Amino acid sequence: MSKKIQAIRGMNDTLPDVTHIWHFLEDKFKSVLNSYGYNEIRMPIVEKTELFCRSIGEVTDIVEKEMYTFDDRNGDSLTLRPEGTAGCVRACIEHGLLHNQQQRLWYAGQMFRHERPQKGRYRQFNQIGVEAFGISGPDIDAEVILLSARFWKALGIEGLELQLNSLGTNEARTNYRNVLVEYFSESKDKLDEDSLRRLDTNPLRILDTKNPEMKDLVANAPVLTDHLDQESKDHFEQLLSILDENCIKYVLNPRLVRGLDYYNRTVFEWVTTKLGAQGTVCAGGRYDGLVEQIGGKATPAVGFALGVERIIAMLEELQISVPAPVPDVYVIAAGEKAQPHAIYLAEKLREEVHDIKVVTNAGGGSFKSQFKKANKIGAKFAIIIGDNELEHGIYGVKPLLDDSEQVECTLEQLLEKMQHVV
Ligand code: ATP
Ligand code: MG
Repeated sequence: MSKKIQAIRGMNDTLPDVTHIWHFLEDKFKSVLNSYGYNEIRMPIVEKTELFCRSIGEVTDIVEKEMYTFDDRNGDSLTLRPEGTAGCVRACIEHGLLHNQQQRLWYAGQMFRHERPQKGRYRQFNQIGVEAFGISGPDIDAEVILLSARFWKALGIEGLELQLNSLGTNEARTNYRNVLVEYFSESKDKLDEDSLRRLDTNPLRILDTKNPEMKDLVANAPVLTDHLDQESKDHFEQLLSILDENCIKYVLNPRLVRGLDYYNRTVFEWVTTKLGAQGTVCAGGRYDGLVEQIGGKATPAVGFALGVERIIAMLEELQISVPAPVPDVYVIAAGEKAQPHAIYLAEKLREEVHDIKVVTNAGGGSFKSQFKKANKIGAKFAIIIGDNELEHGIYGVKPLLDDSEQVECTLEQLLEKMQHVV
């Protein structure tokens, strides 16, 4: 036998016994998004590398060390998307979607980051993202947060904490940056290698360190809140009051910065303590400068992305069970005429009974072995066809989920009965 080929580390298969949980999540999300009037956009998985360098920021973990970047056969540098916002903005600019109009958009799909694989952190993972363009007020910040809260409700997930912060304007951040550099410079010996480098290039990133040894140092750092401009303060206050009015609880976290450089003003994360170190299930904020930064006309924007694998893990952790769909009918047949008729009958059922799930027995076998297969896949009913019964236009119908007796019925009776099963 040849050597088996395995999947790439950190890139998982989603097996058929769990795909229904993904469908459940996606369906809930779509219905919530529908109720807020958001439209889906689909972008390519691969983009020019430059797009991500320019949008996410050269000195972020993602661009520095996590991107899957390669030269294609023409020698162009391409990258598997590490997130969706950059591609979404690129598409909107390219197709003129932002000309004098607002856009409420969502997307879903795989993202790629070369991180150290562990629970809740993979190299290929799935995000569902939401982006709203062309609206500068706190009302739309509130809308995307309310939308995310409604999604947790739809899934039955309780106990997530909403953390909020405001990063202010670029100027406010520049002032704060100087204060931070001063603070961290005094404790250079406590900074790890990454943070030392960041001290010159991007000191705010130090606050986002995942290194537990730097926790105290970061906890005592000066906070951005004290350096906010008045307009950003007002924007933030108004957002909080809309959230209050809608009974959305939140925690102000003055040290919340995001892993991507394009954010300004509002940033937020939904966090759980139930998933160990990978506790952020959803994160986002405002990014008013990004559209202009990658070649469009200045356009205010706000959005978030949630990590689908972490939410699936959350459903498991909270023991929220999602029943797997079962076939309504398994068609059992034995006999020369009965076997081909089984296929005909299954087609008839699919034609006449809306949404019915019918599995036919393929590959022959005794009645006994066919019943075994029907039970194994959890079918609600077995329909039994033998040559004898077929001659009289009669089908056997046996409920499989309880001990009820098998009954006999005509085609008409069968179709009628099945209407009530689905
Ligand atoms: P983290 O701080 O956990 O690294 P991040 O700040 O890099 O997250 P974002 O880029 O904002 O995350 O992505 C939004 C969400 O996508 C995260 O909150 C998380 O739920 C999910 N996510 C990010 N990276 C991964 C990954 N490598 N594997 C699985 N989910 C991820
Ligand atoms: Mg990260």
